[in-house]
Amino acid sequence: RVLSKLYGRSTALKDVDLRVPQGAVYMLAGENGAGKSTLLRLLLNLEQPTSGRAEVTGLATDRHGARVRARVGYVPEGFGMGPRWMTVERWLAERTVYYPAWDAGYADALCRRLDIDVSRRIGQLSKGQTRRAQIVAALAHRPPLLLLDEPSDGLDPAARDTVLELVSDHLSQTGCTILVSTHLIYELDALVDQVGVLSHGRLTTQAPRDALRDTVKAYRIRAPEGWETAPDISNVLHRSRFGREHNWVIRGDETEVAARIAASGGEVRDIASLTLHDAVVHLMRQGAAS
Ligand code: ATP
Repeated sequence: RVLSKLYGRSTALKDVDLRVPQGAVYMLAGENGAGKSTLLRLLLNLEQPTSGRAEVTGLATDRHGARVRARVGYVPEGFGMGPRWMTVERWLAERTVYYPAWDAGYADALCRRLDIDVSRRIGQLSKGQTRRAQIVAALAHRPPLLLLDEPSDGLDPAARDTVLELVSDHLSQTGCTILVSTHLIYELDALVDQVGVLSHGRLTTQAPRDALRDTVKAYRIRAPEGWETAPDISNVLHRSRFGREHNWVIRGDETEVAARIAASGGEVRDIASLTLHDAVVHLMRQGAAS
């Protein structure tokens, strides 16, 4: 289960124990080069881990790579689709070989919804047009698991909204599981229920979204001069200060944290929840610093 991946002597993933509950929408965040795309490729057996073993939809990916891939709708990081001369229509038709559950009528409907001209050749497509076709290929076999690697990369704002709607529809119709890597956290705000943060190849956070909402909070504290060196508080993710007022973002049990602040002589004026984006950015920075 615990995956590691080395490229030569450099470590792309280190002891990653990613667990995506069935039916969850799991958002994988992390800085550039953190290992997100590598992890998704390992799950599909498109690359092999240096150590460890992945299991996807109950199947070991090293032994059942083709079966796993048939059950997964995958939007890869890159924009390489197929031979430049091939039309989108032909490329989509060829997907049916890999996906027994391919629904041609649904694929047509998705193409219309995403305004794809299927007579065009792959070599003539723009980045966003390529992405649209990749999204059709990921959804048209109604897979029980979507692995989406920065799915909105290259898409214009209207297409992004359409893709989010399509993914939400897919989710409500199939009850599928989604693992999505993204830098655009706010885009997924309404869908996400599990969060993972990768930092330098390590999974530094893995938690239900509600747990993060309840435990990562901004504390506004009024305190005497020099107070900031006093408190015995771990997991301070961020500190800022304006005069005698301090704003700290802290991960921990709210009551316990507030009690520690009070014991150190600080007066808690306000405790506020963070947006998912802000909480994840603070966790990413903490992961990068540790
Ligand atoms: P981004 O957000 O920039 O897309 P990422 O989190 O998806 O980044 P990966 O593409 O998984 O990151 O890369 C993780 C690390 O592995 C990086 O340091 C990268 O340089 C390295 N890496 C990825 N693929 C290869 C490869 N084929 N050969 C050598 N190193 C690689």
